[in-house]
Amino acid sequence: MMIIMKANATPQQVEAVIASIKEAGLNVHLSQGVEATIIGAIGETHNIPMERFESLDGVDIVQRITQPYKLASRQFHPEDSVISMNGFSVGGNEVSVIAGPCSVESRSQIIETAIAVKEAGASALRGGVFKPRTSPYSFQGLGEEGLELLAEAREKTGLPIVVEIMSQVQLDVMVKYVDVLQVGARNMQNFNLLRAIGESRTAVLLKRGLSATVEELLMSAEYILAGGNQRVMLCERGIRTFETSTRNTTDINAIPVLKNLTHLPVILDPSHSTGLANYVAAIARAGIAAGADGLIVEVHPDPAKAVSDGKQSLKPEAFAAMVKQVGQIAQVMGRNLSTVQGDIQPLKQGWA
Ligand code: PEP
Ligand code: MN
Repeated sequence: MMIIMKANATPQQVEAVIASIKEAGLNVHLSQGVEATIIGAIGETHNIPMERFESLDGVDIVQRITQPYKLASRQFHPEDSVISMNGFSVGGNEVSVIAGPCSVESRSQIIETAIAVKEAGASALRGGVFKPRTSPYSFQGLGEEGLELLAEAREKTGLPIVVEIMSQVQLDVMVKYVDVLQVGARNMQNFNLLRAIGESRTAVLLKRGLSATVEELLMSAEYILAGGNQRVMLCERGIRTFETSTRNTTDINAIPVLKNLTHLPVILDPSHSTGLANYVAAIARAGIAAGADGLIVEVHPDPAKAVSDGKQSLKPEAFAAMVKQVGQIAQVMGRNLSTVQGDIQPLKQGWA
């Protein structure tokens, strides 16, 4: 249920509504927007009559949130959410490009990629260190050593880092290093992981499951939001269909659908959604034209030698060309590419 306060409601009246919501055994989520103060009463609200809140001073309108997700809904939070991280933000007028290898493989690989993507116009660096591989015999990631290397790449380039978390046991070490926790497609409904991340205050990139509906994605976001972590971005990364000419099928529809249903920023992953480097730029352009707030793209200095997802990884030159095109499309959409301030810094240990 949401309680919209009158424009001239006093702080005391807002407090009285909050007290009344708590008394009814519900949780409170306060959203103080530019236009209005909206107080969410979250929990088992169906037995609670709306009159209970309608009669309170300062209350303008009481409405039931009709969607099963509440905090994620645009009904509850009409304005777009902007998620700010170390020097970069997602969801405003700027389009953000997150780029980097599927997996961190070595110091030279991640530093070289970080410099290349920064120079091409990326505003954050991605890199997996705990990899959700289909085969237990495939490369599983460098673990904490990979996080150290990513932190070094961040120090050199100023790019914030986005890293996938696979399990809640990794949370303590991850939050020490990363700017954004990525929840992968295979973990979208790992509810224990979502709850643990909801307790943290680190930003989250939540990827859509391989066969998940838009509503299921939003319900997963709700788990994180309900824990108090409001810094959630959603990611369309392609879904399983009968089509086999690409690894997955990009659900371009999901972008405007999500923008309509939720205030959370929407990122498109053209790498996993196509699985083939040749198609990545086309789908990246389509995503920004469809209204995505950003992209997450796999880039590798030598894709043929990549330990994971080489076939879909762009070489730095192809990535730079893609960013230029995406920047032009962003402008047509009345937006700009976001940039990270600052020069590339020399490294402590003499990396040339
Ligand atoms: C990844 O980003 O490398 C990844 C494993 O993505 P997804 O969870 O979308 O498959
Ligand atoms: Mn990958």
